[in-house]
Amino acid sequence: MLMGSRGSVPTESTAAPPLLLKLAFEVAVLGTSTLALFQRRTVGRMSSKDWQCLDMIHRRYYQGDQEAVSITSPLLQGHTALFILLLRLVHVSRMDVTTDRDEQLTAIEYRLLNFERDHEAAALVCPHSEPMLHSWTTMWRYVTIVLRIYLTSLQQHDLCSYSPQISALAIRGLHEAREIWSLTDKGAFTWSGPFTMSNTGASRNIAGCTIAFILACAVNDSQALEEIQIRLRNARECLSASHYEQLAQVLRILIRRKEDRLGESCRVDSLGRCQGRHDGLDLLRLPLGPFHILDLGSVRAND
Ligand SMILES: [Zn+2]
Repeated sequence: MLMGSRGSVPTESTAAPPLLLKLAFEVAVLGTSTLALFQRRTVGRMSSKDWQCLDMIHRRYYQGDQEAVSITSPLLQGHTALFILLLRLVHVSRMDVTTDRDEQLTAIEYRLLNFERDHEAAALVCPHSEPMLHSWTTMWRYVTIVLRIYLTSLQQHDLCSYSPQISALAIRGLHEAREIWSLTDKGAFTWSGPFTMSNTGASRNIAGCTIAFILACAVNDSQALEEIQIRLRNARECLSASHYEQLAQVLRILIRRKEDRLGESCRVDSLGRCQGRHDGLDLLRLPLGPFHILDLGSVRAND
């Protein structure tokens, strides 16, 4: 996918990484990861060699001094790790349960923990001004919380949006999302923040829609869902008309399900397993993605 069928990185020794290689890598990572959730089959095309190649380039060019990495990162400002994690999560969400998905989820959790730790450390020595540091810290905290929601829902399929683990994360994620939306409304972020979704940047930014959609699946109150829905309307500018219509239909299903469950609480059995009806997180692990709900004959019965 990235560098041809051999799946290897050019080995010429040079102090300055080739810009073209990094640009190709970042375009592939951005496009593949942020669109993956809304596509039915693309992620399944990732072979083990594709993953190896992705990891090799990431390890070679994106480790070490983060300021230097950021400066020489043409598109993602060095923040490639979260995009790869998002792609991995979408990939694992489509995997058969008989495969090594648990092992892969454990590896993803380890990487997410590392990212959280590294980012906290980086913030301590950040050379940026206080407002910029606040913006970036809020941004990456928002994205890591939402990825943790995704990860947790894949690790424990029985969890509903009312379960303590999910609702605590969703409340934190929504808090950060509101802060980010406030910053984007003020124009503090445009394309410089790939995971944001500002009015000015929406036409080039599906990443914000992907993260907001995952959060929409996890929240359990109607006000939060309405706020997210307003933001997701920006997806009209960055999805095809047909994909946007499917997203709108899936959101209508989400809203109906969550309205049906308003005021409920999480019911658990004697082993502490959630017995509640799913109102959204289950969409994130459908074999062909969230839009798959529109293909299923049982939509009317489940929503
Ligand atoms: Zn529950």
